[in-house]
Amino acid sequence: MNYSWATTTHPGLVRDSNEDAVFPDSDGSGPGPLLVAVADGMGGHAAGEVASRIAIETVTESEAEPADRVVEANQAIVEAAEKRSDQWGMGTTLTVGVFGEDGTLRVGHVGDTRLYLFRRANLLQVTKDHSLVAEYLASGAISAEEAEHHPQRNVVTRALGIDRQVEADAHTVHLRPGDRVLICSDGLTSMVSDNEVAAILDAQPAAQATGWALIEAANGAGGEDNITVAIVDVLE
Ligand code: MN
Repeated sequence: MNYSWATTTHPGLVRDSNEDAVFPDSDGSGPGPLLVAVADGMGGHAAGEVASRIAIETVTESEAEPADRVVEANQAIVEAAEKRSDQWGMGTTLTVGVFGEDGTLRVGHVGDTRLYLFRRANLLQVTKDHSLVAEYLASGAISAEEAEHHPQRNVVTRALGIDRQVEADAHTVHLRPGDRVLICSDGLTSMVSDNEVAAILDAQPAAQATGWALIEAANGAGGEDNITVAIVDVLE
């Protein structure tokens, strides 16, 4: 399988710093295996930036299954925080995808960064958010419409760096030529609806232009958070 990919990150219009991290940091194409990861850090005194960077470094250096790499990243962040009192309590979300030469995508995930599959103009959210709003939605307490604008929509219920133990979700997707995969931080999805995201994925054929269009849409809606977008197009 051949892939073409592009990654973009932007601080948004409100935040002073960018605590998101993404890998790879350059666009390209090739047959795979390809690793793509997005992390959204949190914590005071720039600790969020440290947590998301450690998460990305750990998953790129590991050879394990993606969900196990997420668990390894958790351990690395907890250990780093124990050594530095100013980084205590730092955390991050993490979504990592390994795109195989045979077209198999394996995903590891914790938090509210998301991986979507865009196939035949349909947008499917592969990862499940570990967030308060996702729990409210699952319990039927709020509607999907209310979830998109809920004031607590950035509260995560599972993240890396909080506890020595973390459970990472694992997903497997069998990709087909023409598929597009989007991995993004909540700075996109809290500002731009799934319908708008799907329209942009449909309208823009090139990975890099698509990434920029999504960032522009999030900033156009207010850009209240850091925005990170990774696009992987599945070619022949
Ligand atoms: Mn965020």
